[in-house]
Amino acid sequence: MIRINENFLSMEKNYLFIDIAKRLAAYTAAHPDKPLIRMGIGDVTLPLAPAVVTAMKKAADEMGVKETFRGYEDSGAGYAFLREAISGYYKTLGADVSTDEIRVNDGAKSDCGNITDIFSRDNTVLMTDPVYPVYADSNRMAGRNILYADSDESNGFAAMPDKYVRADIIYLCSPNNPTGSVYTKEQLEKWVAYALVSEAVIIYDSAYEAFITDPSIPRSIYCIEGAKRCAIEMCSLSKTAGFTGVRCGYTVIPDELVVKASDGRDVKLADLWARRQGSKFNGVSYPVQRAAEAVFTEEGQRQIRENIHYYQRNAMVIANTLDELGIKYTGGINSPYIWLKCPGGMGSWEFFDYLLDKVQVVGTPGEGFGRNGCGWFRLTSFNSYENTVEAMARLKTLDI
Ligand code: PLP
Repeated sequence: MIRINENFLSMEKNYLFIDIAKRLAAYTAAHPDKPLIRMGIGDVTLPLAPAVVTAMKKAADEMGVKETFRGYEDSGAGYAFLREAISGYYKTLGADVSTDEIRVNDGAKSDCGNITDIFSRDNTVLMTDPVYPVYADSNRMAGRNILYADSDESNGFAAMPDKYVRADIIYLCSPNNPTGSVYTKEQLEKWVAYALVSEAVIIYDSAYEAFITDPSIPRSIYCIEGAKRCAIEMCSLSKTAGFTGVRCGYTVIPDELVVKASDGRDVKLADLWARRQGSKFNGVSYPVQRAAEAVFTEEGQRQIRENIHYYQRNAMVIANTLDELGIKYTGGINSPYIWLKCPGGMGSWEFFDYLLDKVQVVGTPGEGFGRNGCGWFRLTSFNSYENTVEAMARLKTLDI
């Protein structure tokens, strides 16, 4: 008789966005004359950069000509032209990553979830709370023991390692979704030192690195000495270049990242991952890889920067409003997310309903991302400038 993976049964349903949708539908039905402003959007809203569109179209044309048509890509790791472009980009971040340490993927979410395939079920996993839900869910599905490092007001939502906690796999995300907090160089050095001492592996999600404006904040874990011996980095073009619907990202597993098998053999994690991807993943389409390559050209970088600046300006509008209202928050600078403390001691859902009812502004209740999100609320900078300004003007009319 077929048996299911019973780990799924112990996973609570992800009600957050379903609950939000229900409350919004009920409100709109009761108040059709009151338009909502959605400030909880997790998707980008600006279109692709022209250089990206041109490259994608050219590649699509090549696919229609016998001489330039491409089928399966031999390596499965991504075309050399794209991996070289990514490697060159890493140099500009101050990190040395070679082309053969990079594997191209269809976005960071897949790899964040699938990477667990190469690790034994017995590993203890450490992640921050609040957290991007994919890390927790993929490890729950595999039945792994998860420990949480509290990210809260006391540490600026940037949890640090605790030498008394033993972990094998550590998830870090900076700039963080949902809290918008970033790790400083010194903080990352501590995490790397902790991972090296514990012989643990850090899975570092840098999906929002392009939003970092402070030059002292590392945009890659590989800016930290020793990180290549203990960290895997996952990055994405989704938020950087509007690829949420195009789908392209990349994972770096350094050559130096070697762990001991139970028989004492040294095993390169990159080899295990290549084996896993070789069996279960057939690569990213040629037009998408050409589009991604265009992101890393001078022209592409200039164009995507314009879009990022647009979101950063929105974030600034939100941050300035919260400053004016005396509401505490993290993020906004170096991040498209603004994580605010619900005023007047309100709970996250209470504040959600309050904003919806009073000013028709929609955000995301923090408790959907973990228990430390109770009493906190996530706004994003992905709406239009005009809507962001209007939403903040509405906030200022509140008695909070
Ligand atoms: N990592 C973080 C922290 C995210 O917030 C997201 C998307 O919202 C992703 C990874 C996944 O991005 P994608 O699969 O679109 O590359």
